Amino acid sequence: MQRVNVIGGGLAGCEAAYQLKKYGIPVRLFEMKPQKMTPAHSCLELAELVCSNSLRSDRLANAVGLLKQEMRELGSLIMKAADATRVPAGGALAVNREDFSAFITEEIERTIELVREEVTDFSAFDPKEPVIVAAGPLASASLMDAVRGLTGDSCLHFFDAAAPIVSAQSIDQEKIFIASRYDRGSDYVNCPLTREEYDTFYHALVSAERAPLKGFENAAVFEGCMPVETMAARGYDTLLFGPLKPVGLTDPKTEKRPHAVVQLRMEDAEGTMFNMVGFQTNLKFKEQRRVFGLIPALKNAEFLRYGVMHRNTFLKSPGLLDRYYRLKDYPTIRFAGQITGVEGYVESAASGLLCGVFTAFEVMGKPLPVFDNSTAAGALALHVSGSVSKDFQPMNISYGIMRPLERQVHAKEERNMKIAMRSLTEISNIKSKYGLK
Ligand SMILES: Cc1cc2nc3c(=O)[nH]c(=O)nc-3n(C[C@H](O)[C@H](O)[C@H](O)COP(=O)(O)OP(=O)(O)OC[C@H]3O[C@@H](n4cnc5c(N)ncnc54)[C@H](O)[C@@H]3O)c2cc1C
Repeated sequence: MQRVNVIGGGLAGCEAAYQLKKYGIPVRLFEMKPQKMTPAHSCLELAELVCSNSLRSDRLANAVGLLKQEMRELGSLIMKAADATRVPAGGALAVNREDFSAFITEEIERTIELVREEVTDFSAFDPKEPVIVAAGPLASASLMDAVRGLTGDSCLHFFDAAAPIVSAQSIDQEKIFIASRYDRGSDYVNCPLTREEYDTFYHALVSAERAPLKGFENAAVFEGCMPVETMAARGYDTLLFGPLKPVGLTDPKTEKRPHAVVQLRMEDAEGTMFNMVGFQTNLKFKEQRRVFGLIPALKNAEFLRYGVMHRNTFLKSPGLLDRYYRLKDYPTIRFAGQITGVEGYVESAASGLLCGVFTAFEVMGKPLPVFDNSTAAGALALHVSGSVSKDFQPMNISYGIMRPLERQVHAKEERNMKIAMRSLTEISNIKSKYGLK
């Protein structure tokens, strides 16, 4: 049986390797850590969550909730790990990041040949052996040069940003209340601001000093991961409809909805660290202390990690890849994960899952399973391979890129649930038609 080489032991690469192994295909997984680290990775484990510990909504009425359910049905390793290591987060699926990565590393080390080396070009591989490039948005420069050699100058660069983490004991308990939005639990620490406090915070934020962004001056900022100061600069009220929105929250002290609320989400199962939700930032570290310290509950906050901004590389996939994540001109080479132009942990893992399944079926000489846009996983593959947008940008899953229902349903929640049910039926049909494990 032909061996498959997977480059990158992140979310997509681990999922792809696991799927291949499930079908008895020999796999070699290359991971450059610890020999070489990206600017965002810091631990030795595989499938590291580089920023938030949340895999976002777990509700089927939300497309990322459906994508996760499809992955569970398809026997995903990432979802097994996430379900086994979840921490409370309201309607979201958040995990203890160390346990999550340890779970995946243990499974990979037990069953798959793991090579801790950087791959710098494709000549290291037997040309007949399929390759999956899952090196992520911070793929090493030499590998990207090798990719550029295959694709021409088709790579783009842009930014991503990470939010700060503060220690639980440094949060002023007198100035917070615990609640999830719309009374859906009690998983968030809410830091309310009055109109005057918001005003002071806002003006400090938009005038605060930012870190230099050498070499990236002309890069576009991706809408889904926008620094909080960039968002604020769009207008005085923008944050009140974004990360500081108070809707669905009532402060028990005043029995009123606050003017603005900063939410903190638990980072670890013990609740010793909290992530500032939606506060990706590129402010200088001393400015983060000064400006975020204007949030009353965070006046004396201890920053365990400051927010940072990073390079993010992805392919101009439409036209370059086919719906099976294959490079059209070199079909033994596939791409998976964020580097294909899907956006987010779950989307990256889902593309790795399909990529692993497609490669396994190809090696076995069987017809490739067809996932169309009635499924969330299929819709993502069709988006990255077939988007007609002139300005292709990484994309989170949404019901908007899935096939609409044949009969219109006006109520959004009901419509989404119907699409979700149709998709899960389709996944079950694909499984039995092609014999997916
Ligand atoms: C700073 C930052 C913050 C982000 N925050 C979030 C977030 O909060 N939520 C979210 O949903 N998404 C976030 N993303 C986007 C994205 O979901 C993650 O980057 C996700 O980890 C992508 O998964 P992946 O498997 O494609 O890549 P990765 O998880 O990055 O895995 C790629 C792996 O390949 C390895 N590698 C790279 N080059 C080589 C090579 N040449 N040889 C061998 N190994 C190599 C790397 O060391 C890494 O382990 C963020 C991205 C960045 C850059």
